[in-house]
Formats: sequence, C-alpha cells, structure tokens
Amino acid sequence: MGQDLSQLRDDVALANRILEAAGLSNAFGHASARLPGTATFLLPTRRSPRFAQASSLLVVDFDGKVVAGDGAPNSELWIHARLYAARPDIGGIVHAHPEACVCLTQIGEPHRVVHNQGGPFHGRVAVFDKIGLIRSRTLGDELASALDGGNIAAMMRGHGITTACADVRTAIVAALFLEESATLQLRMLAAAGGDASRLREFTPDEAKRLDDQLGPAIVERAWDYYASLASS
Ligand SMILES: [Zn+2]
Repeated sequence: MGQDLSQLRDDVALANRILEAAGLSNAFGHASARLPGTATFLLPTRRSPRFAQASSLLVVDFDGKVVAGDGAPNSELWIHARLYAARPDIGGIVHAHPEACVCLTQIGEPHRVVHNQGGPFHGRVAVFDKIGLIRSRTLGDELASALDGGNIAAMMRGHGITTACADVRTAIVAALFLEESATLQLRMLAAAGGDASRLREFTPDEAKRLDDQLGPAIVERAWDYYASLASS
C-alpha cells in the first residue's frame, strides 16, 4: 500500500501539471484522486495546477475538512468532496475551465460526438446550467446529482467542465478529449455557417463502438505523451 499511495500522489500531482501544460486551465483548475478505502481524497493547495507537487497535496474529507497537509485547499473542493461521496465508482476527478467547452455551453449547443475520441462521451455528458463557482456543499451536491448514473463528465455553463472516472489518469485524459471534441465541434459549426444539422454527428451505434477510446491502452498512451509535456 505504501508504494501504491506514493504512486497515487505522483499521479495526482502530474495530472494537475498536465492540466495546465496542455492548456485546459491556467491559474485555476484542479485534479484529485480518492484515497482507496477511505472517505478522503488527495487535492492540491489553492494555487495554479502548474505548481502541484506530490509532497504538498492535501488530504480532504467528504465534508470538506482538510485532515492532513499544510495550506488552504482550492475553493471548489466541494466538486470533489460531494462527487466522491455520491459516486463510489469514481476514483479520479478533474475540474477545469477550457475555452471550447465554455463556448459550447454559452451558445446552447450540447456536446456532440464528431470524432473518434468523442465516442466515449455519447450519452454520458451532464449539463449544469447554474453559473458561478462551486464553493458550497449544497452546490457540490447539486453538481453530483447532475453528474449521476453513468455520466463521466459535466459541461458547466459559462464555467468549465468536470470529468469523473475510475481513476485520475482516465479523468485527465477524458478532460483533454472532451476539450478536443468541443474544439472540433466549434470549428465544424463555424464551417457549416452555424447550422448544427449539417454536422455528421456519429450515431449512437457508431459512438458505442468507440468506447475503447477511454480504455486502459489508450489512456496509458495519452498519459505518457501528456506527462512528457508537463515534465519538460
Ligand atoms: Zn471552476
């Protein structure tokens, strides 16, 4: 368990640095991981994710209390605390403010599957229309209710995204794929004169065949690549 915990701390710190290095967020945004078998999770302190280090991660409980580590947690810690409380299947969470996803929420366009890496999101993206930061337990619970069942992501209007997956590596790769998908969708919409009916959106059956795009092999390959961006 000692080595596993050390690896988990390294993964959470690296996921945060990837978040910034890959352009999903700048001074804001955060990635976390559940500490297995406990009602706690690892979260960075209230700084840009660029500065996250394994040794300075906080341990926070589902009531939002810091139980280990020094420093203040990110103010949107409630996203993580209440999602872990509500969804035992979730091991990793990423919250970021990527531009293309924010644009989609503000033109009333749902996420559509328009390329291969968007496949796993079919029918699994919640919409959270309430604006503003998630800085209370109540708002965290509201987001968790929106992101229930088999959802793996939420698009938050005028704000950003939250991805919630089995582990933090998958959650960060999901966040990157979702922003890539939204970027392409916006470009396609612009090329089609804003007419969404001209997009050749993947059918549910087509999208379903692409579930492996967030499977272990693809996630590991993407993680390796993005990790190299964050460490150079
Ligand atoms: Zn936010």
